[in-house]
Amino acid sequence: MRSTLVRFFHTLSSFTRTAPRRNSYSLRPHPIPLRASMPIIPSFLASLFGTSAAMSSSQSYPDQRGPDEWRAVLNKEQFRILREKGTEPPGSGKFDKHYPSAGVYTCAGCHAPLYKASHKFSSGCGWPAYFDSIPGAVSRHEDRLYGMIRTEIVCSNCGGHLGHVFKGEGFPTPTDERHCVNSVSLNFSPDDEPVKKVDDGKEDGEKNKESKV
Ligand SMILES: [Zn+2]
Repeated sequence: MRSTLVRFFHTLSSFTRTAPRRNSYSLRPHPIPLRASMPIIPSFLASLFGTSAAMSSSQSYPDQRGPDEWRAVLNKEQFRILREKGTEPPGSGKFDKHYPSAGVYTCAGCHAPLYKASHKFSSGCGWPAYFDSIPGAVSRHEDRLYGMIRTEIVCSNCGGHLGHVFKGEGFPTPTDERHCVNSVSLNFSPDDEPVKKVDDGKEDGEKNKESKV
């Protein structure tokens, strides 16, 4: 980059013929142009641009309960997973093979609605899988534990750990994303209204427009 710059100034100066002989002047170090540092985006910038990408779990969430308050309302396994970023064994969760036609999955900690039944799909991975969430309900940030770079997902309301999101695995879903969520982090409410926008092509008969009855 520097040499390109130098050459540029050389060319420029010889073209305009205004350069003094003492070239050393024009070779003074120039401040590195901003563009040169673009590939390395400081994390504070990343946090501005990437949803809540760089948010750490200690960041402020609307539900500010502390560890003791969480212990009072969560069982041990819920606390381990939601508040200590644990993982349930694959295939063990009660929602792993749970495919209701309607309803909403809520945060087991704070009860915020997170996923609709229509977001769920069968991934075969051993944990509940969703291709999307209720808008704004789930926040993401980088997880560098265990020498891997993964994207952790947490409840946007209480910061409770849900699992991780993986992209580009080739699942035939609208987003090609897989929210891999611990069942322990979730509750299910079957009473909620059926989802309106179902674009997965199946059950065409049932997705009539729910025109107000
Ligand atoms: Zn929550």
